[in-house]
Amino acid sequence: MKPLIVPFFIAHQGCPHRCVFCDQVKISGAAEDIPTPAGMLARIAAYRDSGGGRSLEAAFFGGTFTSLPKYLQERLLGPLQPLLETGEIASVRVSTRPDAVDSRTVEFLGEMGVRTVELGIQSLDDAVLARAGRGHTARDGENACRLLADAGFRVGAQLMPGLPGDTPEAALATLRRTLALRPDFLRIYPTLVLAGTELEAMYQGGDYTPLPLREAVALCKVMLLDALRASVPVVRIGLQATDELRAGAAVVAGPWHPAFRQLVEGELFFDLISLLTAGSPPERPVTLFCAPPRLSDLVGQRRENLIRLSRERWIEVAAIRADPRLSPLELRVSAEHFERSGSLLDLNYSGGH
Ligand code: SF4
Repeated sequence: MKPLIVPFFIAHQGCPHRCVFCDQVKISGAAEDIPTPAGMLARIAAYRDSGGGRSLEAAFFGGTFTSLPKYLQERLLGPLQPLLETGEIASVRVSTRPDAVDSRTVEFLGEMGVRTVELGIQSLDDAVLARAGRGHTARDGENACRLLADAGFRVGAQLMPGLPGDTPEAALATLRRTLALRPDFLRIYPTLVLAGTELEAMYQGGDYTPLPLREAVALCKVMLLDALRASVPVVRIGLQATDELRAGAAVVAGPWHPAFRQLVEGELFFDLISLLTAGSPPERPVTLFCAPPRLSDLVGQRRENLIRLSRERWIEVAAIRADPRLSPLELRVSAEHFERSGSLLDLNYSGGH
């Protein structure tokens, strides 16, 4: 069982500047404070008491951990050392920027029990990184990833398709170069225009157009499929729907949806149903079978897939059934005198997306 994450937000702490798209307070709903040792221990105890025996991982998100002054890094990691020794927490994770990782950092993190480092790679296109005000290059991203992986850390890579100057082709090139680095997992956050950021000024001034929702979903489904093929788990697609984001005022423009990942997975299943029913007799009701956890992806948000199948492909779905023998990637389509099975890995978007 995966460890239960005990999150600590250090919003913007350690960041050398604000990247044009970023507002961690709006994203996480957390204040820009460094947690106190007493507060950290109390939160860990609360997670332990309610965690049902699951192992715990303390995780520092929302800032540039390894650019914090050393005494602050020690103040945050120090109180965790006795808990790591007794096994009360199993591991520690931090998030940081690629240009804040060097061999001394890696050594220090290893000594302090950090096992997972999440890297904000965002893009591996230097022109895109420059327009996003990142202040580092693609080479920094690749070097940091290699340095951490070579030292035995679990590495998570965060990518942001749709930044200023990015294109779907450039975003896919970034993804493929990132997959070649063999990260342990990915997070994909299509770029949103958050209120009060420099990106909002660019957007209001006509210097930036975010990806429309439909295009972002179309791009992310190709990215997800590539990651699946490379056996690199994608642990998140789209920002988590915090209260602040749900309230609506925080997102000025861009492909925001509270269930973005389900839109992406739903599209993949729509495409697979279309592939498997190509050439089948039209207007003959079909029954669809999938792994039990995939039922909602198959149906799609607000039954979108069933509506589109009827409207665009003249396919009426008579029933949808869970079949535990199928893997989460598989689908079976059955109709009178007609049965086909396939996997999401059978999809091919090389001709475009
Ligand atoms: S993207 Fe990362 S480095 Fe840039 S401002 Fe946000 S938290 Fe800091």
